[in-house]
Amino acid sequence: MFEAKNISVRYGKHLALDNVSLSVGEGECVVILGANGAGKSSLLRGITALSPRAPGGSVHYCGQDISDVPAFGIVELGIAHVPEGRGVFTKMSVEDNLRLGGNPVRARGSLNERRDEVLEMFPKLAERRRQIVGTMSGGEQQMVAIARALMSQPDLLLLDEPSLGLAPIVVGEMFETLKRVRDTGMSILIVEQNVHASLNLAARGYVIEAGRIVGEGDANTLMNDPVISEAFLGH
Ligand code: ATP
Repeated sequence: MFEAKNISVRYGKHLALDNVSLSVGEGECVVILGANGAGKSSLLRGITALSPRAPGGSVHYCGQDISDVPAFGIVELGIAHVPEGRGVFTKMSVEDNLRLGGNPVRARGSLNERRDEVLEMFPKLAERRRQIVGTMSGGEQQMVAIARALMSQPDLLLLDEPSLGLAPIVVGEMFETLKRVRDTGMSILIVEQNVHASLNLAARGYVIEAGRIVGEGDANTLMNDPVISEAFLGH
């Protein structure tokens, strides 16, 4: 349902993403593994046009060439991006953050139903819907960011390192929640450094290093790949 071919992102002279190609199937969860600075965020930002792509390359989604669609148009097509750093509105309540996530035209009209569906996947947020987001823990704020993205009724969810900065037990809860989201049939492209958790969630993955894809395979193959163990797991 999604295919990027030969996309590159350049910041001035620095080529952060170099001719990367990848695909995500209908209902599939795919992970991009990479160390700090490998180009993971640039990849997602290049896909959703938040960072300008270098000329050449293409992005196709549900049979449509979306290479020239600007960032605000991407969400209307059904691709939601949860950026690194979450971008939640910290002075507003959980419920108001969710309501803003339902602003795209494709989601209007069924906001209350959608909110109830989303909160079913995030029981902890359901209990705290009136809490001000800035008073919540990092893990809870990350949940708010994901729940808000789901309010736009996406078919493809892009997640930028949702486990970043979270304590191990909270990372576990985060990935349990993401499994519930995956099991609704949502297509997911997630970038992560947490190899174990993300390969338990995803069916397939790619490895990115210095802006290039240097490996790919199904989750089991990647989990047992000595190069990945050495690069990410320290053994
Ligand atoms: P991290 O997990 O540390 O965020 P990443 O894999 O997501 O890393 P990117 O954020 O995509 O990597 O960065 C890739 C490279 O591009 C890095 O060398 C980074 O310094 C550089 N870079 C990213 N954004 C910019 C920018 N706006 N201007 C200049 N260079 C940038």
